[in-house]
Amino acid sequence: MQVGIPRETLPGETRVAATPETVKKLAQAGHQVQIERSAGLAARYRDSDYEQAGATLVDAAQALGSELVLKVRRPAPAELAHMKAGGVLLGMLDPFDADGLKTLAEAGLTAFALEAAPRTTRAQSLDVLSSQANLAGYKAVLLATQYYGRIFPMMMTAAGTLKAARVVVLGAGVAGLQAIATARRLGAVVEASDVRPAAREQVESLGGKFIDVPYETDEEREIAQGVGGYARPMPAAWMARQAALVAERCKQADIVITTALIPGRPAPVLIQPDTVAAMRPGSVIVDLAVERGGNCPLSVAGEVVDHDGVTLVGLSNLPALLATDASALYARNLLDFLKLVIDAEGRFALPADDDIIKACLVCQDGKVLRSA
Ligand code: NAD
Repeated sequence: MQVGIPRETLPGETRVAATPETVKKLAQAGHQVQIERSAGLAARYRDSDYEQAGATLVDAAQALGSELVLKVRRPAPAELAHMKAGGVLLGMLDPFDADGLKTLAEAGLTAFALEAAPRTTRAQSLDVLSSQANLAGYKAVLLATQYYGRIFPMMMTAAGTLKAARVVVLGAGVAGLQAIATARRLGAVVEASDVRPAAREQVESLGGKFIDVPYETDEEREIAQGVGGYARPMPAAWMARQAALVAERCKQADIVITTALIPGRPAPVLIQPDTVAAMRPGSVIVDLAVERGGNCPLSVAGEVVDHDGVTLVGLSNLPALLATDASALYARNLLDFLKLVIDAEGRFALPADDDIIKACLVCQDGKVLRSA
């Protein structure tokens, strides 16, 4: 097949959907790979390395006009204009955005949104949410170190002892767990909260302390189990008890990293403005949920703001700040997904009954297949 890799056009998007490593594998499998010139430059992959791996360098229109297009982000209207009806598209296509999916269906594309893959063992190697969230959790901690005027580990010096930083992580999914592990490696004392009871063991296995918000009713217990591994919105009474406990822990904390998300909904508000006001000057909050409204209403997407000495880091798209590794993992995720839809002769073929394909196929034959 003709496989096209355009350069990403969304501002700040530095990742690329294929690396020389994955291009080599595609070319070896007999595909004709067409990559847009400079597509990998922002992620530090050179055109010459793609050529050596077997790709042809082309312009944007040619890359987008390929039979199969590999993208990081959903194509913008200007990009869609170059895409062929009947073409196949793989990417992070924002499956909860019904209007966005409609534009893909109208362009006649067979489109797969990889974020919609189930969180199962079989889907692990193509799980783009995990590969990218892992890096985001790591980077969140490094950003915190950058804006924090102190150090993370305890340090005994001739001039006196410096105390270890206290880190609170809210939301212990993929990003949160990586943030816990990273903060622990740097020597911080870490506490974490999550609604899902399964998170406790994971937090503790990384050396973190679990902030327990006990369930008081069967309804709370049932909702907290989530669905498909994901959280569901908790009842107001539980959220109020959690807010009180989180406020208390945040007041003692130096760093707060928030990662709490509920699929298809605005991020839950976990840190109220009065909690920020009560935090110590010099504290840092990194809000990883900022693109979905934020876990703290004072976070501003794309900005770092100061609230009376408390720094709120609302930088979005943290994986793009680690573009080389983020692209490497993402490109491998795509390659693994392709194994499901390319047959032994190297042609596109939809398997008849496959839960991963069913979940990810968002547009076909001019129709949106997913109710957002
Ligand atoms: P996510 O990004 O959707 O959410 C981040 C975390 O926020 C989750 O742990 C969620 O429970 C938590 N959260 C939501 N509301 C909260 C609240 N009010 N207070 C505190 N925390 C709250 O989650 P994710 O990182 O994508 O992980 C989702 C699930 O998928 C997890 O159960 C994870 O273990 C699982 N998972 C499974 C696989 C696999 O088996 N292949 C791979 C990756 C993730």
